[in-house]
Amino acid sequence: MYIDSHCHINFPELHKNIDEVLANMSQNKVTHALCVSVTLDNFAEVLGLANQHKHIFASVGVHPDYEDIDEPTVDALVAHTRNDKVVAIGETGLDYFRLKGDLTWQKDRFRNHIRAAIESKLPLIIHTRNAQEDTIKIMKEEGAKDARGVMHCFTETYEMAKQAIAQGFFISFSGIITFKNADLLRETVRKIPLENILIETDSPYLAPVPNRGKLNQPSNVIYVADKIAEIKNISVEEVAEISTNNFFTLFNKCLSK
Ligand SMILES: [Zn+2]
Ligand SMILES: [Zn+2]
Repeated sequence: MYIDSHCHINFPELHKNIDEVLANMSQNKVTHALCVSVTLDNFAEVLGLANQHKHIFASVGVHPDYEDIDEPTVDALVAHTRNDKVVAIGETGLDYFRLKGDLTWQKDRFRNHIRAAIESKLPLIIHTRNAQEDTIKIMKEEGAKDARGVMHCFTETYEMAKQAIAQGFFISFSGIITFKNADLLRETVRKIPLENILIETDSPYLAPVPNRGKLNQPSNVIYVADKIAEIKNISVEEVAEISTNNFFTLFNKCLSK
């Protein structure tokens, strides 16, 4: 069995075909998926899906790419975690690739999420792009180690991965590791122990080879697992088993339901 540790199946292009999306998951033995919030406005949709479907879980958070939005307070974030199906805080983090200029607000928002994670005793889902130094610095300053979490859709350096792992974080790889130009990232996959790895689709984006260019969906996480097995020269069963164990170790609130 496989788990998609990060998807956005509440987005309209997947939500409108949700029965088919779930059927495709079970066909590929993708037994669970974590549906990740990007704004508090869409949290209700995410939670709705999780409440309707036993094997779908939810997170609460506001993505760093949404600039013109009311800042979520620590209290508001924590309040939303009081639901059984909410198992994580995020996605949150820093993105200096998409947004430029004075990003103090992005850093402040990131800090609030870390505080909410520590207070609610839930792990963090961190999005980080072109912001390695500040991401690690803020994680250390805020004590993200106490919350633990995952660096999702990881595309940064092995050096950064090591620093995140040292703070109790898992590294999650998406379909990007199947892309032709991702040799450097595959080298990072090779170096990171399977015990520190999660797998994800980040669907509806980033469909892996052989479905590249099509709409992505959680059932495609099997291709991420295949690629990791190939890179590490181990069986895909081993990747499936260990990454599934890792998922439940981190998002252990899933087990109480
Ligand atoms: Zn992200
Ligand atoms: Zn995402």
